[in-house]
Amino acid sequence: MMRDILFHIKSLIAGHFTVFKHSFKPAVTVEYPDEKPIIPDRFRGKHTFDENACIGCKTCMRVCPASAVEIFKDGNKKTILFDYKKCIFCGNCKYYCPKSAIGMSKQYELATDKVEDLKIEMGKKDNE
Ligand code: SF4
Ligand code: SF4
Repeated sequence: MMRDILFHIKSLIAGHFTVFKHSFKPAVTVEYPDEKPIIPDRFRGKHTFDENACIGCKTCMRVCPASAVEIFKDGNKKTILFDYKKCIFCGNCKYYCPKSAIGMSKQYELATDKVEDLKIEMGKKDNE
């Protein structure tokens, strides 16, 4: 019984000591959305697509583990459709594209209350 009480008192002191120690360190979080975080260069955010570079090989579709990307070809014209309901931002589509036609930007603010807005088509002049 006494040992239990001592154990709990020790844990309580250790917990308070940890909080006290960290209260003098600079914050690692920011006041989002008023303050924007610094996004690292290798961040994997919303995709970019270069339809002129794309050869329509569909490698991006084959390597996507979430079936979140589709390529459409209409003659020489190619469009790409990203489904951000499914995308896990793994970067496979970008890294395996043989023509570097897919990029990943620093844009991360993709939240929306309209589910249809999570399907984003790129490559059509009137959609970009
Ligand atoms: S992998 Fe690249 S070149 Fe091939 S269809 Fe996808 S975007 Fe186009
Ligand atoms: S980032 Fe990954 S999950 Fe998202 S579309 Fe590309 S391959 Fe698919």
